[in-house]
Amino acid sequence: MNTIAAINARTLQCTVCAAPNDDFSTKCSSCGSFLQDRVANLDFFATLWQMIESPKVAFRKTVLSEQKNYIISMMLFLGVGAMFTLLSLRHAGSEFDNLLFLMLYGIVLGTLIGPPLGMIVIIGLHLWCRLARGTATFRNSYAVVGWSLVPIVISVALLLPIELAAMGMLLFIASPSAAAIKPIVYYTLAGLDIVFVLWTIALAGYGCSIAHRLPVWKTMIGAMLVCSAAGAIFYAAFAHWIV
Ligand SMILES: [Zn+2]
Repeated sequence: MNTIAAINARTLQCTVCAAPNDDFSTKCSSCGSFLQDRVANLDFFATLWQMIESPKVAFRKTVLSEQKNYIISMMLFLGVGAMFTLLSLRHAGSEFDNLLFLMLYGIVLGTLIGPPLGMIVIIGLHLWCRLARGTATFRNSYAVVGWSLVPIVISVALLLPIELAAMGMLLFIASPSAAAIKPIVYYTLAGLDIVFVLWTIALAGYGCSIAHRLPVWKTMIGAMLVCSAAGAIFYAAFAHWIV
């Protein structure tokens, strides 16, 4: 069986009447028997850990979950991460009296911008997948793309404080730059940041392939294009206005 056929054949057989069912159903479409546990809502740390350990299981759970909870909160992290990246790329440090003001600015603006930025990515990827004949509802695109933000949450919660502690205002000024003064620290942490972003994009593509039953290469291309476009829109919209 080739990959596409294998994906299309993802069915769940009813143990009572043997009817084939959609593997995301909780009740048999033929006899109404119970097929699998429905998930009422998602536990944050359990789902986060599962997303690292076994993304396939985690994504299935987010699709089966009735509540698509925690996604807006994770978008706040996305916004903060994006805003600090922008402030660093634009060397915004000279506009602020000290690091504390810059951090407050980045956090407040980031949390405002996070949800619309996240929604742009979700809508874009949902449209891409539907055009590629994907089958998921918008809610399930929202669930899998939203939960693929796990690496961004980890990087903003753990890596960003380390970067701020290690390099402080150096991250936000043109000269002397953090890269020149602390090259090893700077390139190690910046490299990790890039890894976390790529991990998020890969998860978004993988999650969409599960929810939409599409070949993974199609959704990966979509994830790369949509995330690049969203990043470019974000940069173009705020680069000159923000500082
Ligand atoms: Zn049945």
